[in-house]
Amino acid sequence: MATKRAVILVSGGLDSATALAEARAAGFECYAMSFHYGQRHDEELAAAGRVCDALRVAKHVVIDLNLRSIGGSALTADIEVPKHRDEGTMSAGIPVTYVPARNTVFLSIALGWAETLGAFDLFIGVNAVDYSGYPDCRPEFIAAFETLANLATQVGVEGKGRFQIHTPLIRLTKAEIIRRGVELGVDFGLTHSCYDPTPEGRPCGACDSCILRAKGFAEAGLSDPALKP
Ligand SMILES: [Zn+2]
Repeated sequence: MATKRAVILVSGGLDSATALAEARAAGFECYAMSFHYGQRHDEELAAAGRVCDALRVAKHVVIDLNLRSIGGSALTADIEVPKHRDEGTMSAGIPVTYVPARNTVFLSIALGWAETLGAFDLFIGVNAVDYSGYPDCRPEFIAAFETLANLATQVGVEGKGRFQIHTPLIRLTKAEIIRRGVELGVDFGLTHSCYDPTPEGRPCGACDSCILRAKGFAEAGLSDPALKP
């Protein structure tokens, strides 16, 4: 029997690296997709490339899609990235780092690629625990997108298979994601999480993403290999 293919969204962060490792561990031939979407920096795309090489994907494509044209987020417009926020503030509402409809857009393009490849399995490293502010990281959203995927495609309508959106991390804490990634052989030293790195590409240490990453490593009892001097 031929190996089943899966499309995995890979951002270069630690969550998507772990999601990719889960797809690989589940026996899928992995087709990775990243986006050059007008994010503040290219460091995360470099990280995505490193992660895809290390986990030996069958193919990695980078889609050019400039979301700066619509803006509306601290990641895609000239809006400052919030720094030094405590967890109470972070969980109080939808943060300005939310990129309007981003996961809907990304999953839609991943779905198109999956249909082309004859794949019915998509993986996305969304998480609804540590950072519950993002509407497009919730299980309800994923379930709705899965329904859409089966209605929106030729192969879905013709009954050639059923699309499944895999979210292996959705109920895990950051520390649990890190432990699982280590178990699966992910080198987190290759990943990049910061929303607003220095001009040299070093993490700022103060944005929500840096703070949650540091907390995750601390709770997992590990040091972050990406912070080596
Ligand atoms: Zn940062």
